[in-house]
Amino acid sequence: MKWYILTDLEGACRVNRWDQTRVDELTPDKLYARRMLTAEINAAVQGLYDADHEAEILVWDGHGNGGIDNTLLDERIALIARGSGIRPPYGLTAEHAGMLVLGQHPMAGTPRGTLAHTYSSRTVEEYRLNGQPVGELGARAVMAGTLGTRGVPTILVSGDDLACAEARALIPEVYVVPTKTSLGEELAEHRAPAAVYSDLREQAAAAARAAANIPPVRWAPPYTLRARMKEGFGVEGYLRYDGATQIDERTVEVVTDDLTKTWI
Ligand SMILES: [Zn+2]
Repeated sequence: MKWYILTDLEGACRVNRWDQTRVDELTPDKLYARRMLTAEINAAVQGLYDADHEAEILVWDGHGNGGIDNTLLDERIALIARGSGIRPPYGLTAEHAGMLVLGQHPMAGTPRGTLAHTYSSRTVEEYRLNGQPVGELGARAVMAGTLGTRGVPTILVSGDDLACAEARALIPEVYVVPTKTSLGEELAEHRAPAAVYSDLREQAAAAARAAANIPPVRWAPPYTLRARMKEGFGVEGYLRYDGATQIDERTVEVVTDDLTKTWI
């Protein structure tokens, strides 16, 4: 079967500072963060193969300036590496039996959430989808649910405890693997990495076996996606999307039947 893995960097074990994730340069701290995330991906990949020997796995490096150390990534899998011009649905198709979201952080504004943000950690105050606050996880899970006649279920999420809670609130059946407990914006208590890897392998296998019974997040169209910027930031970048309407200085909205045509 086909499986899809979306990755981000801020939710990985032993990552808890912006200077580990925001910098474009390959500093020792950034390289370390990438190695940690890559080890988590490899563990989840092994779990998928445990459950499905014929697994065809596609990974998308969803962290803006790249979160994966490609030299350490499992060589059996396909990869959409860091690059410019990527658009929704980011290589995900209706043929994928499930989506796994690794290295996830909580949505912007989450109290005590380590490296909490929504898409841009510098500019975005909040996203709402059909009136409900969503972070990256919720937005992508709903988008996955719109694909094909059934939708693609989000079957496993790993990240800090608050990202895991965010996932469970939206998808009660989802498998979760906490990597750390958030203690503040740049503070976390990390689990032992070895324990995280063994949980990821085990839970990814369990999630793959259960995938057919995990319901996709399937919201009926039309979709109203609203983005609100932090003070001092405008919405110009969003106005190039079809149907985008400026609501006020810091708020933009699009109403659509096709979420993949938006900035989701
Ligand atoms: Zn992110």
